[in-house]
Amino acid sequence: METDDLVEVASFTYQPEAQTAMILLEQNGIASEMSGAETVNAHALLSNAIGGIRVLVSRSDYAKAKSIIDEDMKTKKEESGTTCYHCESKNVVKVPVTWKTIILGILTLGIYYPAGFKRYLCKDCGRRLSHFVMT
Ligand SMILES: [Zn+2]
Repeated sequence: METDDLVEVASFTYQPEAQTAMILLEQNGIASEMSGAETVNAHALLSNAIGGIRVLVSRSDYAKAKSIIDEDMKTKKEESGTTCYHCESKNVVKVPVTWKTIILGILTLGIYYPAGFKRYLCKDCGRRLSHFVMT
């Protein structure tokens, strides 16, 4: 991959979000690189100040990559195909992992959510589901 022709397609506050985006791009045949993760991991509070963790793709892939990521953000609820294990409803939406979730996780569990940890909310019974998705 030519490193002199990379453009930023998305930026994220935390590494798991960036990794999720990179996996999605890879599944669509687009190679990507992450920039800034070392700085953010060492100085998490600086993430916003330095523009977060950037996902870079080659210029020729940019339009496709951008539309994939935009589409993913719009249709996250469609993609899971998850069935509620409480009431067996399929009306389950993905709950994005946000910085609030991560901070709450650190405060309550003392851990940082790893990449691949996904949470869902059942809209029929209102209960939360958690999945570890190995990719
Ligand atoms: Zn349910």
